[in-house]
Amino acid sequence: MSQNKTFIEFHETLLKLSHNADFINENRSRKLASLSALAGRLLHVDRVSVWQMNAGQDRIDSEVLYLLDKGHDYRPVSLVDTDNPAYFKALKTARVIDAGDALNDPRTAQFAEPYFRPLGIQSLLDLPVFDGGRLSGAICLESLRRRTWTLPEISFAIAIADTISLVNTHDAWIRAQQQLDYVTHYDNLTGLPNLQSFRERLQHLIRKMRQRENDGFTVIWIDLDRLKAVNDGMGAAGGNRVIAEIANRLRGLYLPGRDKLARIGGDEFAMLVRDHEQQRHLQDLIQQIQHCISDPMTIDDQTLRMTASIGICRYPEDGLDSESLLRSGEAAMYHAKESGRAQMQAFRQDIHSTARSRFVLESELRHAIQHNQLDVFYQPIVEPDNAEIVSNEALVRWQHPARGWMSPMEFLDVARNAGLMQELGLSVLRRVCEDRRNARQQGIEMTTTAINLSSEQVMDGRLPLRIQEMLAEFGLSGDQLEFEVTEDAIKGDSKSLQTTLNGLVDLGSRLSIDDFGTGYSSLSRLKHLPFSKLKIDRSFIHEIPGDADDCAITLSILGLARGLGMQVVAEGVETEEQRRWLTIQGCDLLQGYLFSKPIPIDTLLEYSAHHKRSVL
Ligand code: C2E
Ligand code: CA
Ligand code: CA
Repeated sequence: MSQNKTFIEFHETLLKLSHNADFINENRSRKLASLSALAGRLLHVDRVSVWQMNAGQDRIDSEVLYLLDKGHDYRPVSLVDTDNPAYFKALKTARVIDAGDALNDPRTAQFAEPYFRPLGIQSLLDLPVFDGGRLSGAICLESLRRRTWTLPEISFAIAIADTISLVNTHDAWIRAQQQLDYVTHYDNLTGLPNLQSFRERLQHLIRKMRQRENDGFTVIWIDLDRLKAVNDGMGAAGGNRVIAEIANRLRGLYLPGRDKLARIGGDEFAMLVRDHEQQRHLQDLIQQIQHCISDPMTIDDQTLRMTASIGICRYPEDGLDSESLLRSGEAAMYHAKESGRAQMQAFRQDIHSTARSRFVLESELRHAIQHNQLDVFYQPIVEPDNAEIVSNEALVRWQHPARGWMSPMEFLDVARNAGLMQELGLSVLRRVCEDRRNARQQGIEMTTTAINLSSEQVMDGRLPLRIQEMLAEFGLSGDQLEFEVTEDAIKGDSKSLQTTLNGLVDLGSRLSIDDFGTGYSSLSRLKHLPFSKLKIDRSFIHEIPGDADDCAITLSILGLARGLGMQVVAEGVETEEQRRWLTIQGCDLLQGYLFSKPIPIDTLLEYSAHHKRSVL
């Protein structure tokens, strides 16, 4: 009885430690140090070490060593699978390696001569630790006294191992957040803050200035002239090198403070200069910018001389919030551009945003998303031989007040640049859920709807939870939805991607790889991701059966999918010939104008009501 009481106290001590704010805020190695010391002291074991496993899971490296008599005493040691197969096998398969007689236990006997005897180790209790679902290391308790591990001891050691696993998972979560923060705030090519960060920076500064009314700032809008000609002549890669070079040169101009320079569009940069930080005349700074851009540069053995059109606007005179400042800066820049290359223009009230302005479109889009005004059309996905509808794909549409119906091709880039992809995705999801609930209230059970997810969405580990909440709100279950992720969006090797995808599968939803064939997914990667469908990109279907290359690619994709046990959907099926060929080759499902264009929900429901089991 008293032994049980002792162990309850042990668990309480552990709980207290792991919930302590100081502990939570410590870095990883300090957390491991506290946990190993706790294990050593309470279980009275002489040596406690924590090990980390490499990604290939064939080596472990020591991370922490705690000695009961001396305290922490780290020395790097590595063990490899090929030298110690029995031990690695045990780590990978067992929850606990409780070797009371470590020298003779088959799982650990290999360490007897090189390790146990010299140190006098008799008994050992090792436990694997995890990171998310993946085996990521071990905690090892070693005793110089021969002992038979009791159940309470083992259970406490498991609790310590689980706490380390939690620390790992938490670390991975933080890393994923940082990664997400990076992609949403920085530009990949130049490493500069992007438009989204620049906007946040403006908002932050404006809030600060409202409290202190005596300061202002200038926004300098820099748009490279004729970058299109460079792209046409040297290819997109050449254009990218020009942009990267100019970004470097602009970075070289001394600007006090962080995040004062951003890349806010393909060939556009913006700078922020606060009045009190201005160490030279604005005119001088502009001239320096012009010079640093027009200095000759050599790219691919060609000497180029670039120029830029520059627009300038000021807070508070030319705009009181970030959006109106962005509009004013852009309008001034366009005005400069109209007067020829390499010009500069300060904003004046008679300069208005032109129809070209992306900020006008952007604020309209933001408004539409926030007011749930985006529409969703549905395109049926059918069986090859009888064209029976088995599911449908939700495709976002926007009815713009002046431009009419806009396709996603026309506004997704705007949304992406404005950092609106996650909100847009949720708004589509909400609309799909609403449509399904309404259909159900009319007594119609819709077929599964596939929803497209952007890379911004799949990088966010919170996505499954958001979806789960939405499903609950509408009384729907996860198996009524599928999710499509483009091959492009899964190319990174991030943990959070894996977590998100697994989370979606846990909700009961099936996952498809979209636009397959356009990226470079490796087979081994696909095998490890939980996709059950693969959609062949419509560019391969277009020339079938006439184009031998496209037929060969399609056949190899079909073979690959069969090997992985995945269903194949061919998209963009427009002709009877395409359908026949794909059917003969055993393609599982088809989608395309031959069967139906994307249609509004009412039309889809009419189909379902009248053509339930017939050919469209
Ligand atoms: P996608 O996922 O590959 O969607 C299929 C696109 O092919 C749709 O274009 C559809 O209208 C078009 N299509 C279908 N059948 C045919 C055909 O037989 N011939 C031809 N030429 N085209 C066909 P849409 O609706 O313009 O969407 C374009 C892309 O925008 C989608 O490509 C998808 O990547 C993206 N998208 C659409 N809705 C959403 C959304 O809600 N969220 C996200 N993240 N992306 C979306
Ligand atoms: Ca799709
Ligand atoms: Ca597609």
